[in-house]
Amino acid sequence: MNLRIGIPGTALAAALAGTLLAAESPTWKAGTARANITPTQPLWMAGYASRTNPATGKEMDLWIKALALEDARGHRAVILSGDVLGFTRTLHQRTCAALKQRFALEPDQVLLAASHTHSGPVLAGALYDIYPLDAAQKDLIEKYTADLEARIVQTASAALTALAPARLTAGQGVAGFAVNRRNNPEPEVPRRLADGTLQGPVDHAVPVLAVYAPDGGLKAVLFGYACHNTVMDYYRWSGDYAGFAQRALERSHPEATALFFIGCGGDQNPLPRHQLEQAERYGLMLAAAVEETLRTPAPTLSPRLETALEMVELNLGPAPTEAELEKLAADSTPYQRRWATRLLADLKAGRPFIRTYPFPVQAWRLGGQQALIALGGEPVVDWALLCKQQFGPRTWVAGYCNDVMNYLPSQRVLQEDKPPLAQPRWGYEGALATIVYGLPAWRWADDVEERVTAGIRHVMAWPPGVSRPHRAEPQTP
Ligand SMILES: [Zn+2]
Repeated sequence: MNLRIGIPGTALAAALAGTLLAAESPTWKAGTARANITPTQPLWMAGYASRTNPATGKEMDLWIKALALEDARGHRAVILSGDVLGFTRTLHQRTCAALKQRFALEPDQVLLAASHTHSGPVLAGALYDIYPLDAAQKDLIEKYTADLEARIVQTASAALTALAPARLTAGQGVAGFAVNRRNNPEPEVPRRLADGTLQGPVDHAVPVLAVYAPDGGLKAVLFGYACHNTVMDYYRWSGDYAGFAQRALERSHPEATALFFIGCGGDQNPLPRHQLEQAERYGLMLAAAVEETLRTPAPTLSPRLETALEMVELNLGPAPTEAELEKLAADSTPYQRRWATRLLADLKAGRPFIRTYPFPVQAWRLGGQQALIALGGEPVVDWALLCKQQFGPRTWVAGYCNDVMNYLPSQRVLQEDKPPLAQPRWGYEGALATIVYGLPAWRWADDVEERVTAGIRHVMAWPPGVSRPHRAEPQTP
């Protein structure tokens, strides 16, 4: 287990010096920055295996945005929100390495939050099995990803360099457009909505972190929602509903940067969907929930930040046998065929399959009270509900953070997705997605919930004000 609790060693000395030297009360510092990451080349878009060609246009620009924070003791962190399907392990490792070199930040102080828009670009090393990418396309994707990496580091650096006094508040609103997609067949959703008979667990909370400048103006707003960013499935670059929400907030607060993180929306869809006006409407609903929360008086968070990260070694479930792969290599589904063919080549070359994966589990605590738990992968909604049950209903839980390598099913979903399936549409989040993501297994092992839960307990258990030895660098396999 690699656990790091981020408290600066000189905290006490700095705090004492602060009280002796400054008459003012200590405050947070915050800084923001952004960069446009809209591809200028016709890249393939990430997210739907059924796509047949690269992007053909642009609905709105894609962004990487950064919010840097520093507490009264000088402990810093930076969250980056990006309009991509998911950041990869390589991007996470390289970003952490660069920010360690430039700003002495440890990986627990860096948080990469992907919006999971399905109208963003394919990134290097991710989802290659699901599209027919030729060498020229792979080259474009690799160049784009190298450029993205540079922009992530530049944006984080600019936000850290722009740190200035700020006041922080934490609030929580509600928005209702996320529907449990496992428990509600999409064609039946309009009728069930009208009848009030939608099924299955959801998390409709809208966490809101507001950052104010000393003059009282809104400087940044970080908000979340647990729902797939998948209203649209077309060929135009777009931040989808989360892009519309951020755009609406930045239009009504021109001085502010709006940053989105997606919650545990692995099994949640914005329904009904597929129309552009629905993407905009859901974005406006989410922005309205944020505005409503900003209007509600919220207590100021004291300038204290704790950060922790654990790379939990998750076990992969049963690996495919040679015979199973031979069969799938002749399958009619192209992505399954490509996956099986690639793994067969590994088997024949004597390259062993990986059997574990280092899964990032991170937590920040703001003002000694507001927790933000950040999980990798695509967590199903049960994860948010489990965390809220354990740590209280105002706990914020982000998914799709730092490394999106697969879905993260709960024990319930993992079991539901083992054959024989009780519902014909089941089997994706807990099983088939492992193939989409290219992992050499049929699913995670049965201890996935137990191991991630233990990791969450560890990162949430730091004793305030105490520093611990750590070894939290995201590790290469
Ligand atoms: Zn997804």
